[in-house]
Amino acid sequence: MSATAQGNGAGGASSASFDAVIVGAGFAGMYQLHRLRGAGFSARVIEAGDGVGGTWYWNRYPGARCDVESLDYQYSFSDDLQREWDWTERYATQPEILKYANHVADRFDLRRDIQFETRVNTATFDEQANRWDITTSRGDRYSARFFIMATGCLSAARVPDFKGVETFKGDTYHTGQWPHEGVDFTGKRVGIIGTGSSAIQSIPIIAQQAAHLTVFQRTPNYSLPANNESLTSEKISVYKQNFAEIKQTARETASGIITNPRDISVLQAGPDERRTLFEEGWHEGGFHLLEKFNDLVATNAANETVAEFVRQKIREVVKDPQTAELLCPKDYPLGTKRICIDTNYFETFNRDNVTLVNIKDAPIEEITPTGVRNKDGSWEFDAIVFATGFDAMTGAILGVDIKGRGGASLREKWAAGPRTYLGLSVADYPNMFLITGPGSPSVLSNMIVSIEQHVDWITGCMDYMRTNNLATIEATKPAEDAWVDHVNELANMTLYPQANSWYLGANVPGKPRVFMPYVGGVGAYRIKCDEVAAKGYEGFTLGAAERELATV
Ligand code: FAD
Ligand code: NAP
Repeated sequence: MSATAQGNGAGGASSASFDAVIVGAGFAGMYQLHRLRGAGFSARVIEAGDGVGGTWYWNRYPGARCDVESLDYQYSFSDDLQREWDWTERYATQPEILKYANHVADRFDLRRDIQFETRVNTATFDEQANRWDITTSRGDRYSARFFIMATGCLSAARVPDFKGVETFKGDTYHTGQWPHEGVDFTGKRVGIIGTGSSAIQSIPIIAQQAAHLTVFQRTPNYSLPANNESLTSEKISVYKQNFAEIKQTARETASGIITNPRDISVLQAGPDERRTLFEEGWHEGGFHLLEKFNDLVATNAANETVAEFVRQKIREVVKDPQTAELLCPKDYPLGTKRICIDTNYFETFNRDNVTLVNIKDAPIEEITPTGVRNKDGSWEFDAIVFATGFDAMTGAILGVDIKGRGGASLREKWAAGPRTYLGLSVADYPNMFLITGPGSPSVLSNMIVSIEQHVDWITGCMDYMRTNNLATIEATKPAEDAWVDHVNELANMTLYPQANSWYLGANVPGKPRVFMPYVGGVGAYRIKCDEVAAKGYEGFTLGAAERELATV
């Protein structure tokens, strides 16, 4: 299909017409571009940053790494790509993952269709033309038959609305918008707010540099040791040789990662067996602890056994008993907030230059020109790090003012929480697709597996429409309602709703409390999506084209 363009390539505003406009050049946007090109569609990617990689472009804080093992956290679509790329560590660093993203962009010549340093501001569906009109921060106006949001689940970085934040005289940083040149904290008094995954990765490294590091903790997290190590050439070679089979199996699992769970309830195991297996899982590192029994995240009673094991580990590591107790999560089940994977996190609290401040009952009242204040006291800093997370799953989507049929605003439609069909599509928003949108497994999975599945499905759908001379596809309201009910029903059967997590929007004051990801697992979800397609896109309305669409 074709693209038409007007405007200059020297930074001025453009107007152009494409089969698809894709927002975001992370792993989702890059792969979507590659697939659409391969299928003969014209596409333009629009990316706010000045490079590819998304998450790995923005999150350059010290210690940033994947927590899904590197060999699993890579694309599977190209055998040549996997053969020529060697990961060096069990958990790759952010620079290495960003290098991989850049390698992919170069290898598949993606950059010529990506417009960087440009933010999509609005997208409006034109019902007469059956096309999306898209405007950008640079004044561009694009027209596209398909509008694809590859904006990421964790890309809208969020600094809480602290009173006085703008008055602070020192330096401030958000982990998700880290300066490219890095930050040297040597000799500085640093405060870090938050103890989620980003904080847990960065605290041990910042503590090694800073004169003093003060950690403000509202909720302690369950964190498991990474036991990171260099990958041996033998391990890499075995993985490469079995790549296709491994990836196929991973696609059929619940999480997009092959695990080896024992089919035994922890409640049936005696204390010695429990302890031995928990120790084994702890030393294997990462999420392996959870494989030791089949019900650790299924019931409160089972969960409490592993939660208490982790608390005991914290107590063993952290020398000051009061600090250890503060670091022990006690009021939500393990796994209901994203489990953190760390290297020397708890050990860091044994350093003389690290202080933990519990702000659960004494919230931060103000950022002052010199530091942080709550009802218990005030702390002076040269720098403050906000490790305060993201407006997850919906933040970046609603960052674009999207108007569907009849000018319906997506922000208004989702005011009480996101509503989608399959996490891919929204009723009244024809030809708009969400990659890893709310209502899909997304953040509960190895995201690259979920991204590839969505991109493949969307590409297949567009191809089907072209072949069948269809102009529009849109979710029906009943299909959307039924899917939302199904997503909620499954979530309510789990322990997840028991924690105040970003999965539920609980980290953003005023955000509706709705469990956003789909807990049914990527394998079952893939089957459902494939069935929908096989039944001629069941649950969607397909609109015929008035005249035949151009074909390749
Ligand atoms: P992103 O990588 O977030 O890319 C979205 C892009 O869209 C961004 O570059 C953004 O600038 C752009 N964008 C957004 N809105 C606009 C707009 N309006 N206009 C223009 N551009 C826009 N997942 C795992 O599975 N395993 C891990 O180990 C893992 N580790 C993570 C570590 C960190 C620190 C974080 C924050 C997330 C991690 N994740 C992990 C989740 C991670 O986000 C995904 O794995 C994956 O990288 C998401 O890719 P994406 O392309 O969907 O989104
Ligand atoms: P996060 O998990 O949302 O953690 C944010 C932290 O800031 C929490 O401790 C939160 O406390 C605290 N906070 C937020 N608002 C606050 C306020 N007003 N006052 C005091 N404290 C406040 O964010 P994140 O650490 O950036 O991680 C987000 C997700 O990204 C992760 O869950 C994970 O999926 C992904 N990630 C992965 C890795 C990895 O290991 N590969 C690393 C980083 C991120 P509460 O808990 O009380 O809300």
